[in-house]
Amino acid sequence: MVKATRRLVSANLTTQILIALALGSVLGLILNYLDIAAVQTNLVDGLFSMVGQMFLNALQMLVVPLVVFSLLCGVVGIGDVKLLGRVGGMTFVTYLATTALAVTTALIFANLIGPGTGFGGLQAVGDGVTVAAPQSTWEILANIVPKNPVHALANGEMLQIIFYVIVVGIAVLMMGSRAKSFVQGCEFMNELAMKIVEIVMAFAPIGVFCLIAKTFALEGFGLFGPVIGYLTTISLTLVFHLCVTLMALLYLFTGLSPRVFLRKMRAAQVFAFSTSSSNATIPASMQCVTQRVGVDRSVASFGIPLGATINMDGTAIMHGVATVFLANVYGIDLGLGGYLTVISISVLASIGTAGVPGVGIVMLAMVLNQLGMPLEGIGIILAVDRILDMMRTVVNVTGDAVVTTIVGKKVGMLDKTVFDDPDAGTIDASHFQIDHEAEQEFARLTHPQA
Ligand code: ASP
Repeated sequence: MVKATRRLVSANLTTQILIALALGSVLGLILNYLDIAAVQTNLVDGLFSMVGQMFLNALQMLVVPLVVFSLLCGVVGIGDVKLLGRVGGMTFVTYLATTALAVTTALIFANLIGPGTGFGGLQAVGDGVTVAAPQSTWEILANIVPKNPVHALANGEMLQIIFYVIVVGIAVLMMGSRAKSFVQGCEFMNELAMKIVEIVMAFAPIGVFCLIAKTFALEGFGLFGPVIGYLTTISLTLVFHLCVTLMALLYLFTGLSPRVFLRKMRAAQVFAFSTSSSNATIPASMQCVTQRVGVDRSVASFGIPLGATINMDGTAIMHGVATVFLANVYGIDLGLGGYLTVISISVLASIGTAGVPGVGIVMLAMVLNQLGMPLEGIGIILAVDRILDMMRTVVNVTGDAVVTTIVGKKVGMLDKTVFDDPDAGTIDASHFQIDHEAEQEFARLTHPQA
């Protein structure tokens, strides 16, 4: 027993997070089954909710500084503006292509399995769900240029931040050696941001435990009955896209082992699952892709945050399946035109929406609107969306990492020795030691009289 506990404590962070995930799920399901009011109020809605929210806030706290400084260092470090354009263009096009592939796969699976066919022509009675008017593609593109970069930073507007930072990076390159101390400052800030990531990550097992326990305690499994066909179709398509399509692309374009790749991405996937947010997972993804997989920072610092915003394979899969499911439920014939609309709207919608929990449902409303389908259908699938959101975010995040790795390999910015080292980039207790000599020196600097 003592030995087992000691082994658990010294296990690397990913293992600890996985254990926390499993324990949290089991406890959540037990609490859901017992359904004791006092426990629900004090533990689930109280302690678990508070700690989970603290952890989510802490993850989001990391995102903007990390993206700004690592992207700035990436742009300056890439050393060639033309290469930057190539990396950008390749990443963007591949993201759109994989999302289109994902939604097409979903349409095929949904047609083969036919979820919702048993419902027998429900009547639409008016819109039960209201959504904000979606932006047009032109508006989305125009808004990539921020009016006020400070506003963009304060609100975490990822596309605007990426745009602004790239412009600053190019200006720095144009200023040449006069910007040297600025670049050194950014390098330092980047290192500092990464250190803060490690500090927050150290609390991940606790954060993940609370988030998962809360979700399962609230959701349980009872809701799944009526939409089991919908759930099964999405789950199967997600697994297929992750394990077959994405891994085949990875192997085809990089020659890397999919098994090793998935093992190295595990921590980011667990983060995605427990937070349901590609944005909040950016720090974990960056860490996995650069330090575990070996993609150069200049490619990853661009690809990962961009992917968190514009690449949503899992979400697109949900759109494909949900549309076919609801069409079956309401007895609507989509036809080829309908399918093409689903593909294009789903790809375009993913460009303009940030990777945060539940955004896929808002995008689904855009898809249904475009098809003239009843929005109230969303109500039918909303009950299980929390769980599906967790699953599709894992696919979203893995898709970002796969594309970033492919681009890294294509432009010769992938360090194979890092990929081949099973221990590269693992975080353990040695990362959290304070340098006591430096501590004393700082004390002397700040209190010279002592
Ligand atoms: N939660 C997803 C993400 O952050 C988006 C969604 O499908 O709702 O990637």
